[in-house]
Amino acid sequence: MMTKSIITAVFLILIPLSSIQAADTQTLVEQECKRIGSKLGSVGMQECLGMELTTTNGRSVKNAPILLKEYPPLEKRAPLGKVLLIGGIHGDEYSSVSIVFKWMRILKEHHTGLFHWHIVPLLNPDGLLRKKSQRMNENNVDLNRNFPMADWENTALKYWSDKTESNPRRYPGKAPLSEPESSWLVDYINDFNPDIIVAVHAPHGIVDYDGPRNGPYKLGRLYLNLLGTYPGSLGNYAGIQRQIPVVTIELPYAGIMPTSSEISSIWRDMVKWLSENITEEAYNESRLQNQDAAPS
Ligand SMILES: [Zn+2]
Repeated sequence: MMTKSIITAVFLILIPLSSIQAADTQTLVEQECKRIGSKLGSVGMQECLGMELTTTNGRSVKNAPILLKEYPPLEKRAPLGKVLLIGGIHGDEYSSVSIVFKWMRILKEHHTGLFHWHIVPLLNPDGLLRKKSQRMNENNVDLNRNFPMADWENTALKYWSDKTESNPRRYPGKAPLSEPESSWLVDYINDFNPDIIVAVHAPHGIVDYDGPRNGPYKLGRLYLNLLGTYPGSLGNYAGIQRQIPVVTIELPYAGIMPTSSEISSIWRDMVKWLSENITEEAYNESRLQNQDAAPS
């Protein structure tokens, strides 16, 4: 009798708690979409809300939630692999966030189950969603230089002081993963275990690549141009050190979106390249098919 009433009491407490948490998630997403909608010319609040993003356990320095959208495997079709797509690592590269929203719109209507997608449209909310957007996060750390690297003093910090002349826009932080955003991303990569990572930046107008095998020769009008890897960058950490292919899409302008046909064209080329390169098996398979197709 005693046990039963305790169980009932616990049960009664649990129900309201979970519904409060769901309401909190919704409120957080709404607040964040409102801020994104008022910052980006190309993404409205309603469009953001329509993507049905969820919160993660990731928080920025100023406690903004890092939002996520998952397009999971569909019944009856095993995905070719897992893709992690990330925008807005640098807060002043507006187009890198907006284009991810446009691609999410394509997936919302046409997710075929070809891949299992995890999409983080804005890794650096504090950098973007401040009065004057900035590349770095709230602690003035360049998140794309804050990823793990052995011997931090003599690699990332030395590179920063010697090669960039201590450019404040390239500051890697006092230690690897000193920042909540980069630290969350590494945990997330460990959990999700993506086959490929696609990170969107601007304004170099090229495709960069780090990792095993080869990068895409061309995505839309962006051509492969290997810039070299910087200590503490995501390409260096995930692509070189962990051998997870990292495709870096550098859009031509930070503040101007590509045309809608170019947005679709980059997307189509990327999906095609991913389907032929997402895993070593897919890569070998596509090479065999290409050989068969070649005239003998
Ligand atoms: Zn960037």
